[in-house]
Amino acid sequence: MEKYLKEYFGFNSFRPYQKEIVSNLMAGRDVVALLPTGSGKSLCYQLPALMLPGTTIVISPTISLMQDQVAGLQKNNIRVATINSSMDYAAINSILQNLADYKLLYVAPERFPAENFMAALKLANISLFVVDEAHCISEWGHSFREEYRKLSYLKENFPTVPVIAVTATATQKVAQDIVAQLHLKDHLLIRSSFDRANLTIRIHERVDKNTQVLDFLKTHDGESGIIYVSTRKKTDELHEFLAKKGFNIAKYHAGLSAQERKNAHTQFINDNIKLIVATIAFGMGIDKPDVRFVLHLNMPRNIEQYYQEIGRAGRDGLPSECLMLYSPEDLVLYKRFMNDYEEQAVRLQMTRKIDQMFSLCNSIVCRRAEILSYFDETYPASNCQNCDNCMDEVEKVDGTIIAQKILSCVFRLRQQFGLNYVIDVLLGSKKQDVLYRGHDQLSTYNILTEESRSDLKHYIFSLISAGYLEVTEGEYPLLLLTPTSVKILQEGQQIQFKKKTIRKKLKTKEATQKLIGNLEIFETLRKLRLELARAESVPPFMVFSDKTLIEMSSHLPRTVEDFLEINGVGQVKANKYAKIFLESISKFNGK
Ligand code: ADP
Ligand code: MG
Repeated sequence: MEKYLKEYFGFNSFRPYQKEIVSNLMAGRDVVALLPTGSGKSLCYQLPALMLPGTTIVISPTISLMQDQVAGLQKNNIRVATINSSMDYAAINSILQNLADYKLLYVAPERFPAENFMAALKLANISLFVVDEAHCISEWGHSFREEYRKLSYLKENFPTVPVIAVTATATQKVAQDIVAQLHLKDHLLIRSSFDRANLTIRIHERVDKNTQVLDFLKTHDGESGIIYVSTRKKTDELHEFLAKKGFNIAKYHAGLSAQERKNAHTQFINDNIKLIVATIAFGMGIDKPDVRFVLHLNMPRNIEQYYQEIGRAGRDGLPSECLMLYSPEDLVLYKRFMNDYEEQAVRLQMTRKIDQMFSLCNSIVCRRAEILSYFDETYPASNCQNCDNCMDEVEKVDGTIIAQKILSCVFRLRQQFGLNYVIDVLLGSKKQDVLYRGHDQLSTYNILTEESRSDLKHYIFSLISAGYLEVTEGEYPLLLLTPTSVKILQEGQQIQFKKKTIRKKLKTKEATQKLIGNLEIFETLRKLRLELARAESVPPFMVFSDKTLIEMSSHLPRTVEDFLEINGVGQVKANKYAKIFLESISKFNGK
């Protein structure tokens, strides 16, 4: 196994769980692997595919994902093909007639009812079935695909061929659904920690959007990154704003034509354009390993979606930064549209998830610990050293008195008013409707005049996320007390608020540069890689990963043997690139 690993993929050792998964598949056992993004799930089936005698069928949800994987495998001289809806009948047929020529065949799930396809599989020697992005099977997942439901076909028709299902989903329900839908019985279940230690996680309040975005981008100059916004309109606006500021930036949302979307994707994967602003539609197809940051301009709807999206950063394991800018308005907006969902159960479930997401935003404890506990995992350390709350960039203030005043005001107003009205009363507003209702007579009128309107908003939303206040759904959301409000109002419970504006330390870029050691050599090799990639029309990371270049620039190999020692250099790539890279490195070796 190790020999194949080095020869075909260039890796010097297995990542955690890879070896166990590969050997179980080789022994004919089914496997369900729940491993976070970037943990190397593809290798878990690509390696057995090479070692087993027949053909491995990989079911994958998007064409771009398939094409990228196929291109990557071809770079290592592995015989691989793909069948998808963009191909004509003759091309598909010629692959099906010659299945034995391929070690791997990538197909979309739609293939499965197609008769000529089924017939060809029955005649061929199939070693292994792979269900990639297997969460698509589950209605509990966030990207359910109807066609994935047909995959019980695999076990029914090929009871002796092993099946592996892989996904970066961490939820139990989805995992159980995968097993049930695929009709697996005696499978090996692998579930690793979902911590992504290389991601710096920051969640800040959105105070001055454009400045915050520009400041952030300044610290990631020249790096590849994704900016998520909540709507198509906002995508267009931000794209225009940043393009005017001189950024070379692509955009992606479901309102663009298929061709426009494809272009944006390709430009981004190939490093022609480093930045992309997108809606949630830009998702599963992105296997780019060197995405250095993910910036959210809106709060996602739930923690699953958020974690999936930030997971697209740093697949290569190098330090990467995730910043979310959220605002209470995001919450209010989601709640306002809740009434669109007719089914009560769905609405309750979605509301609960939105509340959990919002409460993560306002939380003052370790982000990692909070996120992992959401996925039923306990983070072992008390300080992760890699999120805003642990790196102590957040100033906390005692908010007990303010909280008491706000809650009393809600109480005095008989829980009949919304956020802005409560603030009006607290600030002693002379607005007509406040005076008309006689609310200037309340004991809580004019009692927080030292605070600004926006600070009060911030405090009220902190109380909501801590569970001391509640917002109703619908067009006119009201503020309500909760069963725990009494703790602050009567039982002397203390509460801390996070200060609204946050100073952040710049970190990830420095961290990467420390790893690189000699920046000059690294940059030289990077340029060389880009030239080679352009000449071959492939993304630079398919020539060598950043990690591999970093290792080259610190080890400075002199011979082909040295070169082969580098993690990420396999036989095929050594044959092809050793000479030109060694030559470039030799210029530094004497220094
Ligand atoms: P996942 O599908 O789990 O998100 P991928 O299969 O896309 O992850 O792999 C993520 C990255 O890790 C890829 O760039 C891949 O080449 C690299 N990788 C996989 N296995 C190893 C290994 N054993 N050693 C070093 N790098 C690896
Ligand atoms: Mg994958």
